[in-house]
Amino acid sequence: MSRKLYMFRPDLYFTAIWMIDFKALSQRGIDYLLIDVDSTIADHHSKTIDPRAKEVLLEAFNEGYIKNACLVSNVMYGKRRMRRVASMAGELGIPFVGAPFFCAKPNASPFLTGLEKMNASPGNTAMIGDQIFTDILGGNRLGMLTILIKPLGKIHWTTRLLLRRARERRLLRKLGLKPDDNDKDIII
Ligand SMILES: [Mg+2]
Repeated sequence: MSRKLYMFRPDLYFTAIWMIDFKALSQRGIDYLLIDVDSTIADHHSKTIDPRAKEVLLEAFNEGYIKNACLVSNVMYGKRRMRRVASMAGELGIPFVGAPFFCAKPNASPFLTGLEKMNASPGNTAMIGDQIFTDILGGNRLGMLTILIKPLGKIHWTTRLLLRRARERRLLRKLGLKPDDNDKDIII
């Protein structure tokens, strides 16, 4: 596999964030999480975290599998979206990073800010997200463990407009990763 293609390849691929085994992650040295917001823990239209996502994350914190996590979201247009991300971070009691347009994911800056807020390093952190071109690429560039999940809820019109999902599907096929509709984990 070419190096360029390799940077798009997630280390793990699950149908949803609640399918992730956080105990297994901690056993492989992952103590911290950077977590994307839209279509990863919440639907684009929702102001709150999907209860299933919230439950597994709080459990992972309570059990001590995960020491801390940070939400990292591209906040393209202003304060209202920033407040939404802040309130979700509040639901979980964790920090957050809202990346504005000029330093949006996959730029390194929001990832590095997130690591700093948790006092974590790429070696003990996993990036979890639904988009290859932002979440996975950015995480891989910094040498983090990357976990792709299938998008939660409806796909946002801007994503559709950019044909990003179609490009992602093509890329997943190239990488030999088949999106799977059953509820089993897909682990690479
Ligand atoms: Mg997303």
